[in-house]
Amino acid sequence: LLFDGNPVPMILCALDGERILAVNDAAIAHYGYVRAEFEKMTIKSLQAFDAELPWAAGRSSDEQAARTWKHVRADGTLIDLAIYSRQLMHGDQPAMLLALMDITERKRAEARLAFMAQHDSLTGLPNRNLLRQQMDEMLQHTRRSTDKVAVLMLGLDNFKAVNETLGHGIGDKLLRAVAKRLRSTLREEDALARLNSDEFTIVQGGVMRPEDAVLLARRILDAISEPYLLEGHSVVIGASIGIAMSPGDGEDSEKLLKSADMALSRAKSDFRGTFSFFEAEMDARAQSRRKIEIDLRDAIQNEGLQPYYQPLVDLSSGRITGLEALVRWPHPERGMISPGEFIPVAEETGLINPLGSLMLHRACMDAAQWPDDVRVAVNLSPLQFRTGNLLALVTDALRQSGLPARRLELEITETLLLEKSSQVLATLHALRALGVRMSMDDFGTGYSSLSYLRSFPFDKIKIDQSFVRDLGANPDAQAIVRSIVSLGVGLGVTITAEGVETEAELSCLRAEGCHEGQGFLFSRARPNAEVISLLKAQRVATALVA
Ligand code: C2E
Ligand code: CA
Ligand code: CA
Repeated sequence: LLFDGNPVPMILCALDGERILAVNDAAIAHYGYVRAEFEKMTIKSLQAFDAELPWAAGRSSDEQAARTWKHVRADGTLIDLAIYSRQLMHGDQPAMLLALMDITERKRAEARLAFMAQHDSLTGLPNRNLLRQQMDEMLQHTRRSTDKVAVLMLGLDNFKAVNETLGHGIGDKLLRAVAKRLRSTLREEDALARLNSDEFTIVQGGVMRPEDAVLLARRILDAISEPYLLEGHSVVIGASIGIAMSPGDGEDSEKLLKSADMALSRAKSDFRGTFSFFEAEMDARAQSRRKIEIDLRDAIQNEGLQPYYQPLVDLSSGRITGLEALVRWPHPERGMISPGEFIPVAEETGLINPLGSLMLHRACMDAAQWPDDVRVAVNLSPLQFRTGNLLALVTDALRQSGLPARRLELEITETLLLEKSSQVLATLHALRALGVRMSMDDFGTGYSSLSYLRSFPFDKIKIDQSFVRDLGANPDAQAIVRSIVSLGVGLGVTITAEGVETEAELSCLRAEGCHEGQGFLFSRARPNAEVISLLKAQRVATALVA
């Protein structure tokens, strides 16, 4: 009666074969097996993971009861159990009586408590305690490699205003939405936590260079700044980010968090809506790039950029056959800024597309005013091939200016062909089909693989100025120039030498049979007005000779 009517599930097992001899009604109700089935099973077949018996020798009954067992019910669900056992005689056979206390709920509650102690209740993100643990692990990891850990402390700009004007309910929803966007911007292995009301901390592992943290900061700022739709309100919020990197800005989690916090304060006071590095030197570099980006955006919009043109001269006749458009940026405070400084920033930020389009349009417009036998060359960045509308851009520039396609030359570098992308080749062929000429720029500086020359029929190869510079002193340079020229002759391609500065270089190039030259010896890049008079003078001179 005590067994059958007991409200606690009980199972009687044979001591030897651990076969189940009897189960009570409570056990049948709890496990969901029918009696006949149940009494054919063994105790081990109920156990989800453990291989040993719950009455293993040598353990006190307290120890035994403190342990949690996992059993499988008939419907496949798992339950947590504490098991009390007592040996007794069943008829004349020694047997083990088990009382099974279901502690699944208690375990769940404990897990909830443990979770709450380590997480923020509003967003469910880790709190400072857990973050510190995660950071310590990541830092431990980097000690054995050259990777760094970056800490990005993000503060929402004007969060208080959202709370005050739209109410705390919407404020809370906004914080949850921000947490969600942040999580989806990060990789699985990056840690994310909420440390203060409107501050989130991101810990990025596997960082090689500060630029990796910059890219992430940009991605985060972009993701956060998209509008949020909350209870019918469209809410826009900006954010600032402070960045600290191990080991320079701190070797332990405490110091790194402090450094990132200081960087955040500076980001908030200097430039809202952007990021700031802790380290002064890195910071100066990132900020100067950032300043270039801001000013460049403005210059592109307000016609602050203009093409200058540098002549390409036919070495046998001495005539100008074309001019290369080179972008010039007279900065109001800094004077002329070199393209070497801002083209990389433009490429990094995507501004290369509006810049490239502007240059192409302006160059075609200007060239349309030049004599009909003079071409214009325009540089293209590989990134312009990625946007997909390059063909339309070129067609447009030609149509608007009325410049015949044969008078436009596009200069690309071999990095474009590195990927051997079929889309790039298709665009190159389509451009050439328009009648536009294609030049391979800076030849000799990259991989200079002949396969690039075979993969696309270029009209011109421009020998990089470093070879021209070496011509007098280095016989190897002369041999290289000679072979590129003979390659050009073989392929029916015009060979142009860049950066010709001296008469000695010029006569050497002439002797090697190089077709064209460009460089300070002939002329620097000049504004269009000067180009027009230069070309007029050339025409007068030709007419006089004739
Ligand atoms: P690049 O296409 O190789 O242009 C030739 C560079 O060599 C120009 O520098 C030119 O001023 C310089 N140069 C010409 N002759 C001589 C010489 O005799 N001696 C020396 N030392 N230098 C000479 P710049 O204008 O500073 O342009 C630098 C680079 O910026 C260009 O190299 C090109 O890659 C890029 N760039 C310029 N304008 C544009 C543009 O509109 N779009 C794109 N995507 N890139 C551009
Ligand atoms: Ca060029
Ligand atoms: Ca070049």
